[in-house]
Parts: sequence; structure tokens; C-alpha cells
Amino acid sequence: MKNASKEIFRPLKESNFFFNCHKDISCFNDCCAKLRLILTPYDILRIKNRLELSSDEFLSLYTDTVIEPQSPFPMVKLKMNRKGEKSCPFVTEAGCRIYKDRPGACRLYPLGRASSLVEGGKGVIEKFFVVEESHCRGFRENKSWTLNEWIDHEGVAEYSRMNDQWLKLVTASRKLGGNAITQKIQMFFMASYNLDKFRAFLFKSRFFDLFEVDSDLKKELRDQDVSLMEFGIKWLGFSLFGDKTLQPKGHGREFKTSA
Ligand code: SF4
Ligand code: SF4
Repeated sequence: MKNASKEIFRPLKESNFFFNCHKDISCFNDCCAKLRLILTPYDILRIKNRLELSSDEFLSLYTDTVIEPQSPFPMVKLKMNRKGEKSCPFVTEAGCRIYKDRPGACRLYPLGRASSLVEGGKGVIEKFFVVEESHCRGFRENKSWTLNEWIDHEGVAEYSRMNDQWLKLVTASRKLGGNAITQKIQMFFMASYNLDKFRAFLFKSRFFDLFEVDSDLKKELRDQDVSLMEFGIKWLGFSLFGDKTLQPKGHGREFKTSA
């Protein structure tokens, strides 16, 4: 993940890979600096809750907003410390201080994952590869992993499942091209990254007068961030791309967002 390091990308098929990372290795923490680490909505949800911050506080303290070539919508990047080694704000001498809630990309490393949608959008095809970086001595260790062992060990599957729902939207956003008008960009940002604001939007607007949402789900949206995030992705699918992910009440009434 470190910018200045030489990288070799090696497809991971049936074979094992050798890797071990531990506190006594000479490169310990070297990989947690100078990163261009894009955060997904699920990454943000996990870290902000871990730090007991509001969405606004987390976004303002720890992130920058960037536009990537693959989408007209803004992405959110973890802000590295400005001074010294430009290290990750969460790295300490003892390692990652948010380890149990570290981003999906940190969990997956030293693997990378490329995913693409199955025709019709039902399911995902995933391919994994090993990212061998010259500064990382973990590849010289004599510990062997299969892909599944690594995924289980690092808790990757849950992150992939959460992230794939959202990446589907990002992929679809290419169709919008330069036509992603300001209001759509604001909706995307709020529902993707600012769950506090999205919750206030649902509960303080006429949203529930206009869409079918049963009382159990409504309670979940009030109390559970994961449900709220998943609902936000459905709402974006409905409002940005006309997906049939939400059921409007009555017929022909158009919902105007105040986002
Ligand atoms: S072994 Fe690799 S992943 Fe582990 S601390 Fe060193 S550079 Fe980072
Ligand atoms: S979040 Fe943790 S694992 Fe990821 S770069 Fe920062 S310190 Fe390293």
C-alpha cells in the first residue's frame, strides 16, 4: 500500500501464498503511511462508531473528498498526518489502534480484489491477486495461507458483502457521466458517507408518508447504522437510477428530496 514501494501484482489462483505480519518484523507499521486509502460507506460506519464520533466529526477530522476518474460522484479518502512520515492517523507503536474496525483494504492486504457484476446485476464475480511490495518483509516469512484462510482470518467477507452493494452504484454512476447534477451528488454524499444526516433527512422530512416502509424497518433505520446504510444504497438506486428498490405509496406522486 505504500506509495514509494515497487509493486508486483501476481494473480492468486488455486495456489497458496506465503506471508506473515507481526510486531517483531523489521518493517512493522511501514505500510501504514503515505497511503491513498479510499474509504467505503461501511469503512466509515465502522470507524466513526469505533471512535464514537458523529458523521460530521469523522468526515471533517479524518477525511478528504476526492473525485476519481471512474465516477462522477465524490469519493472519501483517509487523511494522512500532514507532518513527518505522513502516517495513518490510527497507527501507533503497538500497531493499528482501530484494528477490529480497520478498513476493508487494510484487512485484505497483501491481497487485492477486483470485482465485477454478473450479467443482470445479480451477484459478483471476484478475482484476487497478491500485491508484493518491496518494503514488505512479510513475504519472506514461512507461513502459508490459502485464499479462504486469509479471508476468514482477516474478516474480509463481511466487508466485501457490504461494499459490493455500494460499488454497484458507483459502477452504474459512469452512465451519468458529466450529467451528475449537484443535487444527485449531494444525495450520493449524504446517503453514502453521512449517515447522521441521512437519518435526520428520513425522519424529519415526509419520506415515510411517501414510501412504504414497515414499522420494524423504520425502527431499524432509527437504531441501527448498518440497516440505515443498506437502506441508503437502495434509496440511491431508486432515486438516481430508477431501480425498483423502494416502493412509493400511491401512484405517480414524485418525491422531491430536500438533501
Ligand atoms: S510485514 Fe508488510 S504488512 Fe506487515 S507491517 Fe511489514 S510492511 Fe506492513
Ligand atoms: S487503518 Fe490501521 S491498518 Fe489501516 S493504514 Fe491505518 S493504522 Fe494501518
